[in-house]
Amino acid sequence: MPAFKTVRGMRDFLPRDAERMRHVEQVSRELAQLYGYEEVITPVVESYDLLAAKAGEEIRERMYAFKDLGGRKVALRPEFTASVARLMATKLRNKPKPMRLFSVGSLYRYDEPQYGRFREFWQANYELFGSDKPEADAEILMLTNDLLTRLGLRNYRFKIGHMGILRGIMGQEGLGEEQQNRIMQLLDKKRWEEALTVARSADASQNCLTTLKKVFETKGKDAFQVLKRAEESVQEYEKSVAAVENLREILELTRESGVKLEVMIEAGFARGLEYYTGMVFEPYVPEIEMALSGGGRYDKLIELFGGEPIPAVGVAQGVDRIVLAMKKQRGPPKIAKEKVVVIPVDEEYVAKAMELSSILRNAELSVEVEVMRRAVSKALSDADRRAVAYAVIVGPEELKEGKVVLRDMKKREQRVVEIKNLCEEILGSFR
Ligand code: AMP
Repeated sequence: MPAFKTVRGMRDFLPRDAERMRHVEQVSRELAQLYGYEEVITPVVESYDLLAAKAGEEIRERMYAFKDLGGRKVALRPEFTASVARLMATKLRNKPKPMRLFSVGSLYRYDEPQYGRFREFWQANYELFGSDKPEADAEILMLTNDLLTRLGLRNYRFKIGHMGILRGIMGQEGLGEEQQNRIMQLLDKKRWEEALTVARSADASQNCLTTLKKVFETKGKDAFQVLKRAEESVQEYEKSVAAVENLREILELTRESGVKLEVMIEAGFARGLEYYTGMVFEPYVPEIEMALSGGGRYDKLIELFGGEPIPAVGVAQGVDRIVLAMKKQRGPPKIAKEKVVVIPVDEEYVAKAMELSSILRNAELSVEVEVMRRAVSKALSDADRRAVAYAVIVGPEELKEGKVVLRDMKKREQRVVEIKNLCEEILGSFR
C-alpha cells in the first residue's frame, strides 16, 4: 500500500490546531450573537452559474468546478457572499430589513499553496442588509475590531479605501464596466503601472490618467488629512467627491462612538471581488503581510442575483490567517481547559470511575477516564506528561466512606474528599 498523504493545498488539523481554529470560530459565533447576526448554513456545493455570476475573474478561474453525476455543472463555494445573496434574492426576499446574517465554514479556491494561502480555508462571514447609512459600515468595522481584540491580537491596522473614488473617475471618463473591473483587479495586486496601461489603452484622457495616478499615491495613517488630500485630487469628479465624503462620515462615526481604530487610508485601494461599491477594508498585523479579513459595501449585489436592490455591507474574517497571527503574537497556546483524569485502582472500580466521570462532566469539567487499566503510578505519570490538573483515584478504602482521593497534579499533593463535594472542590480551585 502507498503511504497516503493529503492532497496538495489541503491540510489536516491535529488537536492543537483544530482547537485554535474552533476557538476563533466560537468567538466569532458569540460575537454574531452579541451584534444580532443570525446564523444561516448554506451548502458547500452550489451551481457553477451562481458562484461564477459575480465572483470576479480571478476567483472564477480558480473554482473547484465539476459536473456531478446528474450532469449538473456545480462548484465548491469559493466565498459565502453568492450563497447569502441567493437567499436574500429568494427565500429571505420578503423579510423585514435590516437583516443581519452570519455564516461560518470552509471555502475552496485553487490558489497556489503558500504561507497563509490554502486551497481549503475557513471564513466567518457577517452581512448587514437593508441599510445604506454610514452607521452600517461603521458597525462592520467595529465588529471586526471587536473580534480581533477579543482574540487577543495586538497592533493590527485597518487598510481602508472606497471603491467609489476610482469608479467615480473612471465612470465619468466613460470607461466600460469590464475595463474598470480589470483595472480594479490589477490595483488589488498593487500593479499600478499595468492598471494605468489598461486605462490608457481604453482611451482614458490625460486628465483621467493624472488623477488616477494622484489617487494611487494618496495614502497615510492620519485619516482626515488623507481624505482632505484625496478630495482635492478628485474635485472634478462629482461621484468621487461623494465617495470621499461617505468615507469621512463612516470614520467620524467610528471615532465618535469611541472605537479606536488604527487605520491606513489608501484612496486607490481596490478589492478583487467585482461587487464592491463603497467602503472597502482589510485588517493587517505587522507580523504577516497578508490581510486577515476582507470587507466592504456592495449595494448592487442582490439585484445581480435577481432580487430587489438592497444595500449591503459585510466582512469575511479569515479564520486561518487569524490563527496564524495569534500564533505569531502569542507563542505556544495555553491548554484551553483544565483537565481531570479519573483512575480506578483496579478493574473492580472501573464502573465507579465512569460514574464519577459523568458527574464531573455534568459540572462542565473536561474529564478522561483511565481506559488502559494501567497501574495508578503509570496512569499518574501519563497525566503529568499531559499537564492534567487533577487526578481522582477511585479505590476501596475511601469508597467505603463515600470518598475518593483527589490529587492536585501541579502541587503534587493529595487528600481524601467526599464524593458529594468533589465537583465543588475541583471547580473551587479553578476560580
Ligand atoms: P476574500 O474572500 O478574498 O475577500 O478574502 C477574505 C479573507 O479570507 C482574506 O483576508 C483571508 O483571510 C481569507 N482568505 C482568502 N483566500 C484565502 C486562502 N486561499 N487561504 C487562506 N485564507 C484565505
